Amino acid sequence: LSFDEVQFPSSIQNVIRQLGYVRPTPIQSQAWPILLSGSDLVGIAQTGSGKTLSFMLPALIHAAGQSNTRSGDPLVLILAPTRELAQQIQAVGVDFCGATNSRSVCIYGGAPKPPQKRDIRYGIEVCIATPGRLLDFVREKTINLDRVTFLVLDEADRMLDMGFEPQIRKIIRCIRPDRQTAMFSATWPKEVQKLASDFMTNCTHITL
Ligand code: AMP
Repeated sequence: LSFDEVQFPSSIQNVIRQLGYVRPTPIQSQAWPILLSGSDLVGIAQTGSGKTLSFMLPALIHAAGQSNTRSGDPLVLILAPTRELAQQIQAVGVDFCGATNSRSVCIYGGAPKPPQKRDIRYGIEVCIATPGRLLDFVREKTINLDRVTFLVLDEADRMLDMGFEPQIRKIIRCIRPDRQTAMFSATWPKEVQKLASDFMTNCTHITL
């Protein structure tokens, strides 16, 4: 697959050109057609494979398609195990968010809540969050997940290893069942398979 074949909007193509990317990585070649068609996806892939943009670009196109309903509540939710990964996801996506007029926020535990609350209140299209802090904000009604229609679980195996399964299940139950869901994991143990089968329908699997 080449970048031209994917037919991204020109706002995204321009950023790809500016960043000097020559060709999609293997996971991007496989994931983009599936996610752009609206299907659910399970991707078994490691960090460094280009997996962030494999879900971020379809997510941003999805969000742009809902732009007549921009209310400031997130349309895209990306769950990640750690603050470091959440910030890394935001950093990899930042130029593309800018180009598509999508505001993103990073929400994670172990840091004061007020700055994160302020960012949420300003309005966001993309929320990148660790599960514990996000669930706090859902319970406090700081954030409203009613409009989320694109959900990503990144490093699902690590989130389960860290004991986030109850929080993840509670969060997913707050999200519309007619959403699109993408799950990424470095490994594919029984627990991750169970999470996928409980929350995803008709999904396509890709392995790198
Ligand atoms: P990730 O595996 O998502 O953590 O991405 C690793 C790094 O690869 C990030 O810094 C991206 O900006 C970069 N990257 C993603 N896709 C491409 C690509 N198609 N060509 C070159 N670099 C890329």
